[in-house]
Amino acid sequence: MTCASYDFLVIGGGPGGYTAAIRAAQKGLKTCLVERSLLGGTCLNRGCVPTKTLLTDALMIAAARRCYFMKGEMNVSWRRMQNHKAELAKNSRAGISQVLKESGVHIIEGEAVFLNARTIRVTTVDGQRDLTATNIVIATGSLATYGSGLAVDGRQVLSTDDALKLDTIPRSLAVVGAGNRGVEFAVLYHNLGTKVFLIEKEKQVLPRMHWEIADRYKKTLLDRKIAVHTRTSLVATRMAGKDGVILTLDADAGRKEFQTDKVLLTGMRRPDYANLCLEAAGLTLQDGCLGFGPGMETSQKGIYVVGDAAGPPYLAHKAIAQAMVAVDRCRGLDVGSRLLLIPDCIYGDPEVACIGMTEDEALSAGRRVKLGEFHFMGNGRAGTIGQAEGFVRIVSDAKTAEVLGVQMIGPAVTELVALASLAMQNGIDVTGIKQTVFPHPTLSETFFEAALASHDEAIHMRVESEELHPEDLQLK
Ligand SMILES: Cc1cc2nc3c(=O)[nH]c(=O)nc-3n(C[C@H](O)[C@H](O)[C@H](O)COP(=O)(O)OP(=O)(O)OC[C@H]3O[C@@H](n4cnc5c(N)ncnc54)[C@H](O)[C@@H]3O)c2cc1C
Repeated sequence: MTCASYDFLVIGGGPGGYTAAIRAAQKGLKTCLVERSLLGGTCLNRGCVPTKTLLTDALMIAAARRCYFMKGEMNVSWRRMQNHKAELAKNSRAGISQVLKESGVHIIEGEAVFLNARTIRVTTVDGQRDLTATNIVIATGSLATYGSGLAVDGRQVLSTDDALKLDTIPRSLAVVGAGNRGVEFAVLYHNLGTKVFLIEKEKQVLPRMHWEIADRYKKTLLDRKIAVHTRTSLVATRMAGKDGVILTLDADAGRKEFQTDKVLLTGMRRPDYANLCLEAAGLTLQDGCLGFGPGMETSQKGIYVVGDAAGPPYLAHKAIAQAMVAVDRCRGLDVGSRLLLIPDCIYGDPEVACIGMTEDEALSAGRRVKLGEFHFMGNGRAGTIGQAEGFVRIVSDAKTAEVLGVQMIGPAVTELVALASLAMQNGIDVTGIKQTVFPHPTLSETFFEAALASHDEAIHMRVESEELHPEDLQLK
């Protein structure tokens, strides 16, 4: 058995893991990355990238069908869409592998397990080897879990992994869970011509989002003929011959059954530490999660946890941000209070993006808030692309003009939210946004106009700002 030693060792090659490895190597640390499956992790191989690839293709098909100067029938090749998705992932994996190697990271394909707080054993196709390191990052990702009595079979009852690689487009699909991923799959398959039923146990779709955004989003789904069942839980599934599945649902009106071709269980995520043998490293779990302090360092000095393995929110950009902080911490830099602002995004048509506090959260925190809102209806660029639904809302402190949160629904808001992120992270307040020049005609002007609207100064639409006091929360 061979033994090697490193300054920095990463377990897991997803966005959290490969970012940590590249950054550590850039900073001169002797670095190793261990990955048991495909580089790029969930994000690149079965998450962010494949879903957005198929979704974009599906939206293109829908746009072409709606297009006023196109005529005639169009044939869609699902196989080509699948090939395009696979090709993109393959090329991106090659790109990540190249950057890792060029940065000087030693990549090992194999499964890691802790022997103690400084040593891991890796099982590869060629056997086992032990590696020691001064710093170890756990970036092992997360797994989906389903309610009791529910399990995927990969044929009629699907996981998100299965739903990305179906042989054919189903005629009907029930999507269970109307969170970020559920609604993206619903929009994807709807645009491919599938009859979609969206089932959510909470009282609103997008349960993590502001109720007004969720309401507007639901209205769009209904306008597009996606059936939405909120306050409805899936309790059981059973096969209906080989072509369908019967769902048993509990709703306010009682228990009912209905049949679809397939059902997708989006599930809940939880950190994946399977077979890592954390106890050998002296690590224990609290509520199924590894705890961490500043710089993502666990209770064991020199061991860090980043990304999905560090618990919710389960987002790739959070994994990347935590990875950067962990490397800085291990280099002895002051990491302060970074990481507070994580945008939450939904892709498709329309898009949704939120960051920071909603007005209710700000009021609960005792802040007096101003709401500045501008609608895409008044934005020239939105008109030119035929997507004028939605709005941008800025929640700011009524006294200091500090931006406390931003909620957006409409075209390309998953890009626009980066403006809010940049402003908030760097202390640019509403006045600073108002003093910035935004190119015309662009969707970004909606953010500018929302800042102007906070002081009743919007140009392309007459909108009045609203001021709320903490006491108003009781009246809501
Ligand atoms: C359908 C879907 C869509 C998504 N869309 C988005 C999106 O649009 N935007 C977004 O921000 N997030 C999205 N996510 C979430 C995103 O994919 C994850 O948050 C992100 O991949 C987490 O990165 P990570 O590096 O922490 O873990 P992962 O990407 O899961 O990587 C963990 C890696 O560790 C490896 N590993 C685990 N244990 C071991 C071991 N013992 N030894 C060696 N290797 C090991 C695994 O093989 C895996 O490759 C989506 C997820 C899903 C499922």
